[in-house]
Amino acid sequence: MIVKSATFITSAVKPSQYPPAILPEVAFAGRSNVGKSSLINSLVRRKRLVKTGSTPGRTQLINFFDVNGEFTFVDLPGYGYAKVPEKIRKQWKPMVERYLTSRESLRGIVLILDVRRLPGAEEKNFSAWLDMHGIPIVYALTKADKLSKSRQQLRLRAIAEELSMEKHRLTLVSAKTRQGIDALWEKIEKILA
Ligand code: GDP
Repeated sequence: MIVKSATFITSAVKPSQYPPAILPEVAFAGRSNVGKSSLINSLVRRKRLVKTGSTPGRTQLINFFDVNGEFTFVDLPGYGYAKVPEKIRKQWKPMVERYLTSRESLRGIVLILDVRRLPGAEEKNFSAWLDMHGIPIVYALTKADKLSKSRQQLRLRAIAEELSMEKHRLTLVSAKTRQGIDALWEKIEKILA
């Protein structure tokens, strides 16, 4: 994918604030600090389209970005951050579930996991919930650069086993080295097509 333009459209908490559902859309989700912002920036080759390392716990918004005037990337607020106050954590679920179940232009979701961590209950529940709603999932295992190639393969196998799926469904990526970015784009293009 050649990205010619990537621009912020708007932030929203509820459907009336979403931009018109005209272009095919793919959403990105993952636990806070998993590397979601960095991964989106790597995909569109922009350093700071999405702000990285931002403090979780503030008002969480759904952010919409236009890519090439062809499709929309949606940055969903990170979940499962222990330090986030209970009140904000409770808002996450209805806001995100409402988006995922009501957005007609949504083609699928990129679920981002840290290659070094086994998916926890929260991640497994979310993935099962997406399956139940028939939302296609692309799995990205990020921060791959933190492990040797052989360790990456071991983690890939362990995570696939934990999620009870074939390992070819998981893509190893790194925002730092750009490992796997083209492979991930191919999978994203498939769900957008
Ligand atoms: P988010 O909260 O999920 O959006 O995570 P960020 O993109 O803000 O990244 C969280 C931290 O992980 C930051 O310190 C990033 O520099 C770091 N990080 C993100 N992706 C990678 C990666 O692929 N490799 C390495 N080594 N660090 C990463």
